[in-house]
Amino acid sequence: MDSSRKIHLNSLIALEEIRLLNSALPFSFSASAIIAFIIYIVLHGHVDSELNLNIWFGGLLLLLLIRSIDSYLFLHRPIEKQLRAGNRIRFLIGVGLAGLTWGLLPWLGYSHERQYFDFSVICLVGIMAGSLSSLAYRWEAILLFLLPPSFLLIARLLVDNRQLSIETSLILGVFVLFSMSAGKRIFKTTQQNIRLRLETDIREQAIELMHQKQYLHLQQTPLAIIEFDTDFKITKWNPAAESIFSYSEEEAIGENILRLILPRDSNEVAEDIWSSLLNLETINGIVVENKTRDNRHIFCEWFITPLSQRNNEVVGIAAMALDISEKMQNEQALISSRDEAEKANQAKSDFLSSMSHELRTPLNAILGFTQLLKYEKTMTEKQQSHVGEISNAGNLLLELVNQILDLAKIEQGQLKLSMEQVPLARIFNDCKSMILPQAQQYQVSLDINTETSGYVIADYTRLKQVMLNLLSNAIKYNISGGSVSIKIRPRQDEKIRISIIDTGIGIRSDLIHELFQPFNRLNATSNIEGTGIGLSISKQLMEMMDGTIGVKSTINIGSEFWVELAGHLYQTPDTPDINEHNSITKMEDSNTHIRILVAEDNATNQTLIMHQLKTLGYNAVVVHNGKEALEKLAQSSFHLLLTDCNMPLIDGYELAATIRKQGNHKLPIIALTADAFPEKKIAALNAGMNDHIVKPVTLETLKATIQKNLRSL
Ligand code: ADP
Repeated sequence: MDSSRKIHLNSLIALEEIRLLNSALPFSFSASAIIAFIIYIVLHGHVDSELNLNIWFGGLLLLLLIRSIDSYLFLHRPIEKQLRAGNRIRFLIGVGLAGLTWGLLPWLGYSHERQYFDFSVICLVGIMAGSLSSLAYRWEAILLFLLPPSFLLIARLLVDNRQLSIETSLILGVFVLFSMSAGKRIFKTTQQNIRLRLETDIREQAIELMHQKQYLHLQQTPLAIIEFDTDFKITKWNPAAESIFSYSEEEAIGENILRLILPRDSNEVAEDIWSSLLNLETINGIVVENKTRDNRHIFCEWFITPLSQRNNEVVGIAAMALDISEKMQNEQALISSRDEAEKANQAKSDFLSSMSHELRTPLNAILGFTQLLKYEKTMTEKQQSHVGEISNAGNLLLELVNQILDLAKIEQGQLKLSMEQVPLARIFNDCKSMILPQAQQYQVSLDINTETSGYVIADYTRLKQVMLNLLSNAIKYNISGGSVSIKIRPRQDEKIRISIIDTGIGIRSDLIHELFQPFNRLNATSNIEGTGIGLSISKQLMEMMDGTIGVKSTINIGSEFWVELAGHLYQTPDTPDINEHNSITKMEDSNTHIRILVAEDNATNQTLIMHQLKTLGYNAVVVHNGKEALEKLAQSSFHLLLTDCNMPLIDGYELAATIRKQGNHKLPIIALTADAFPEKKIAALNAGMNDHIVKPVTLETLKATIQKNLRSL
């Protein structure tokens, strides 16, 4: 029991005592008044002083009257006022005064006639003894009532010098002591009884309250509350059960629950649940298909618990059910709309993939053949210049396709980055060698320190894409004889700023805010090639890499485009440059012993790749699909397989998987595909291929990839 309840109980007990004492007053007061009256009549005419006797009798009656009024008022007060401590003190004062008044009897009603005095003494002792019954609830009351008359009587007897005084005082002493101990015991028992009664009252009230609440819950809850016995006969069925299953309480009680609300084919579910319940297991949140009175099928979530006796014997089942049909329908709708959205997304992705494929395949042919044409010694200068034009236009188209695809991928959240420590030296080196021809073409000098030590945290390919875009812009929008330089500066926030500074035409300050918007070429003149999306892609890529991009520009002085990325400026171990771009200047003939099988269905691409491989000096054989490739591989041995991915009969993925399944794990297989999506690369590697080249493929990339894979043999 907590302390506040204990205090409350104790004050209730005290109140109950004072109530008991007060309630005994009418009887004891009437008895007192009658006895006092008899004493008064008997003593009248025999006492030494009639006045004293009258004072005593009058005083006693007055006291009785005052206490009666006080007691009446107390009993009719509200409980909070009855609980006040003052009531008890007043009662005890009243008891003390009563004892005192009675004690005055041998003094004020004194008679020298001995028998009348003895009469007074006997009456007084009798009153004292009689009062015990009504005052025994509280030992202090007994003490207060007994002590004054005892002392006054003994004093009177002593003054009287009676022999009786010693005996009487002894008897009175014993009497008082006896009364005290008896009173104390009675008091204790009374208190216990009161406590028990009050506790029982409190408990009964709590139980009553609980029943009321339970009833309310049972009636108001949206949960069906159902109980049934071990014969499945329903014993409880609340209003929610009525509304969920459409059976009224009268219809449901006594019915078999399985037959009432379970569809015919759910016996198995019921058996499972039943065996768990017999093992005294509680079942929470199980979703069961139920039927209603009008044969509707609904879904309910059940919470079922077995009711068992002390010997663990199941005597019944208590269950709660919630109709979740609507929730399930909503969830289903949500799942199907999500599926549809995913399908639409997939369709978009497929569209992009196929667009990429469709555009890259002819571009592959254009760029590949143009590159081969450059080696034709028989061409006139004019023809060479036309070929150069075709190559430029093709490259621009390829850049446009790539950028549109990038933009679409970023917007769809499909672009996956692989963040790593990218050494600045490596990225600057690669960018420098790739941008050099353009710088030479525009007669712009490059100042790029390829020895720069340090690294940034970025996706290598995407950072290179951003840098090349910025470098290419710095060259394109420059003046003849101008310069482009790269400067590195560490920032305080552990970031590194890479600035690409040009001495070009600059950007008008009122146009700067339009930068980084897709397809916005500002006031770029039409004779400078461009698509207007490079910067917007660069910005998005930088943000994806947790970096920033910015610009400062002064018209006719130049611009500084900068990117900031996390990184450090200190020497990092040199990493081998995997993107070596050895320019191929002549036909190579040292590779003729290497036999390469090419699987490609597109005739133009076949011709192109065969020419490219021939240029690189390889001994290549071409087949039209995966099926033919398997046959060829069975007939003779090859050092490497280059395969297109989309082919009739057996495609590239199936071809690679079959070769690996046949136990040939040595043959390097390189996918040659027009799809630039990273998923395609993953699919190729998953099928068992070693590498992946995206068309249009340059001779350099083709050579590097073949060499890399032959080396790993
Ligand atoms: P593109 O160069 O293909 O037109 P970008 O998105 O790379 O597209 O650049 C958008 C525009 O910003 C350019 O058309 C050009 O007007 C302007 N611009 C970009 N870089 C520079 C630069 N270094 N100097 C001057 N103008 C620039």
